Amino acid sequence: MDRKRLVILGSTGSVGRQTLDIVRAFPDAFDVVGLCAGKNLDLFKDQVDEFNPRYINTVASLGIHNGASQIPAEEIASLPEVDIVMGATVGCAGMGPALAAIDAGKTLALANKEVIVMAGEVLVRRASESGATILPVDSEPSAIWQCLEGEETPPAKFIITASGGAFRDRTWESLHDVTPAEALKHPTWTMGAKITVDSASLMNKAFEVIETRWLFDIPYEQIDVLIHRQSIIHSMVEFVDGTVKAHLGPTDMRHPIQYALFYPARYENPTLPRFDPVKTGSLTFEAMDPSLYPCFELTLDYAKRGGTWSAVLAGADEAAVSLFLDGRIRFTEIPDVVASTLAAHSPIMEHSIEDAIQAAAWATEHTLAQHSAGATI
Ligand code: MG
Repeated sequence: MDRKRLVILGSTGSVGRQTLDIVRAFPDAFDVVGLCAGKNLDLFKDQVDEFNPRYINTVASLGIHNGASQIPAEEIASLPEVDIVMGATVGCAGMGPALAAIDAGKTLALANKEVIVMAGEVLVRRASESGATILPVDSEPSAIWQCLEGEETPPAKFIITASGGAFRDRTWESLHDVTPAEALKHPTWTMGAKITVDSASLMNKAFEVIETRWLFDIPYEQIDVLIHRQSIIHSMVEFVDGTVKAHLGPTDMRHPIQYALFYPARYENPTLPRFDPVKTGSLTFEAMDPSLYPCFELTLDYAKRGGTWSAVLAGADEAAVSLFLDGRIRFTEIPDVVASTLAAHSPIMEHSIEDAIQAAAWATEHTLAQHSAGATI
């Protein structure tokens, strides 16, 4: 196989680390050109020593480390020699380098869903102008993508599955006193803190609906969500003749990561778990009542309005989750905090990418400012 020249944005996060697991499993397949990460400097230095990138970026000033030069992440993501960029950062800060990769016409494997939530419509348009390809990494859109492969007829409906998150057997009202530690216990997936809290509030599922709407250019009305506790079916596609294709697999992010990295090829990887139908036993499905999940309902209500509303949702949720993790607001206050920021926003309906970036940044600052003073709960 030809070596793919790879950049990872967010290499020390959950998806970044698992991307490097795939690189490790195929030592001849990748040339790691650049690594970018945030604050986890010890792990980052270990990764730089192991994978020998030529370019690095991190919040600390490392200068030259192990021969790698520190340059801006936007520059790394758009280097002429780069084939594929893994967008594995968390939150709205991932927009800059993801956009640079898109404008440079790269293949962008995108796990950082907030970027699509912020400005999906504009990003997809920019990608088609530059010749960039955006590949899903999130397991649900990846499943839909794989179900659509080889199909020529437009799909009738997408069915996104939801595990229900950490609190799936509790009513919203009963979650008044839940702690960050409780919200961080996902029943089926191991992921980063922000997405795990978003999964518990079902905000993550609403974001996946938005992500799916833009990545596959399908109207919101053709996207359903249902509760599937086992997370074995990662999503389904229904076609006009009534046939439904489902994508099944273990709950391991390295599967969709590997698929995006090697697309359209598939290679055997003995380090990945295999799906055992007998061990799984049965698969269950339950209707999802949006009114039971205030974050889900609120988010889709505003996302469907278009304009900069989605960017505000992404920015406000990011702040609300950090306030919850810092013990400043209750879990059940997350939708109220997001709603109060939405109420203070004046949307721009025909918006540019800069408008979306500004709206998200404003939403984060506004949300944090409302709760900057005072005691923790
Ligand atoms: Mg997902």
